[in-house]
Amino acid sequence: MTSTDHNTQWAERDLAHVWHPCTQMKDHESLPPLPLRSARGVWLEDFNGRRYIDAVSSWWVNLFGHSHPVIAEALKDQIDTLDHIMLAGMTHGPAVELAEQLAQLVPDPLTRCFYADNGSAAVEAALKMSFHYWLHQGQTRPRFISLSNSYHGETLGALAVGDVPLYKSTYGPLLLDNIVVPGPDCYERAEGVSWEAHSRAAFAAMEATLAEHAHSASAVIVEPLVQCAGSMRMYHPVYLKLLREACDRYNIHLIADEIAVGFGRTGTLFACEQADIAPDFMCLSKGITGGTLPLSVVMTSEAIYQAFYDDYPTMKAFLHSHSYTGSALACRAALATLSLFRASDVLADVRAKGAAMEAAAAPLRDHPHVGDIRRHGMIMAIELVQDRATKTPFDWTQRRGRRIHRHALTEGVLLRPLGDVVYFMPPYVINQDEIEQMVGAAIRGIDLAVRD
Ligand SMILES: *Cc1c(COP(=O)(O)O)cnc(C)c1O
Repeated sequence: MTSTDHNTQWAERDLAHVWHPCTQMKDHESLPPLPLRSARGVWLEDFNGRRYIDAVSSWWVNLFGHSHPVIAEALKDQIDTLDHIMLAGMTHGPAVELAEQLAQLVPDPLTRCFYADNGSAAVEAALKMSFHYWLHQGQTRPRFISLSNSYHGETLGALAVGDVPLYKSTYGPLLLDNIVVPGPDCYERAEGVSWEAHSRAAFAAMEATLAEHAHSASAVIVEPLVQCAGSMRMYHPVYLKLLREACDRYNIHLIADEIAVGFGRTGTLFACEQADIAPDFMCLSKGITGGTLPLSVVMTSEAIYQAFYDDYPTMKAFLHSHSYTGSALACRAALATLSLFRASDVLADVRAKGAAMEAAAAPLRDHPHVGDIRRHGMIMAIELVQDRATKTPFDWTQRRGRRIHRHALTEGVLLRPLGDVVYFMPPYVINQDEIEQMVGAAIRGIDLAVRD
């Protein structure tokens, strides 16, 4: 049996039983799922020994490469010591140490760490906490305010505050009545207008919404700087500054969903730092364990924590839980990940490598079918369009992004375009040659994909 047969065999066995996330399974009739047997650094290896650069950090979770020895060692030690205990009524070293370290790292005054086990769960907890806080003040504020094109997860509460029709429309009748405000997306700026001017002008819509609805809404929830699942659309930090000021003026919470952008992605440890603001709640997940195990946290302030702190019969407690909340293994992986941030100047590296990614994409600057190349730190996106001057998109049913995905695989690069937006969010350990291979594969893929 050749090793090619091993790939095929695993794909066939998979398709007999596995239902994949975010996938029209019929697509696998023409392109089966890629069976992988190992992963190390930025490289994924299939059962045929072929290697692929993980240009999307496995859905944005991996920071320092796959199977990083420091994280692997920590996990091996932890599994032999204490695997998992419930975090109600008990505690463990990794949960305590991680909460201490996160409290030091996130902006003041966020000092309290509430654990959950995935990003959507953190968003749900933050929404509930915010609503519950106002209830403790004698106010019922059942609504939330969020931005157009936002994404905050797939569970019903998180989906309700999102705005990507592909994921949301079907479930509309099940969802909370949320207020969506046109956002600061800089792809929509007029010719010659700067990111800052566009983002500043876009704030007028938020100001008007707050004036009208702040009293009936608990919080504004945003993804700082990059709307990742929303086609990697980006904006200027000034919007966050204006938003923080306005949330104070209108007495409403600000929830920063840093699940995708946290832990260095945009060139600062947290994206909020670029606006020099602190939210009332910060949701973190994805990169927190270096991409090894599911974990999430909601960081909040002592003032909010104190609103829930009272004698039991007052029934003020936040009675929310998940079975794997604050798993010792996941917390230990997170501690190892944070140790890697201390071991070298990771953020300088992210900024330099982000610039190198942009330089590698220079040949696309004047491409007739490239409507935009945008970047924050090590997140770069290229928007494919039918007409560059008018930014007219291709007919989405042509699925040109999928052609780029297929081509890149033949060059040993795993890309996963969002529609016709090709993006790069590789692990921070990618080197210059790998950056050139990754972006080069996309450039050639784009040339093929725009032909008819
Ligand atoms: C991925 C993501 C989530 C959801 O996290 P899951 O772990 O996939 O549930 C929420 N918000 C943002 C900004 C994300 O990118």
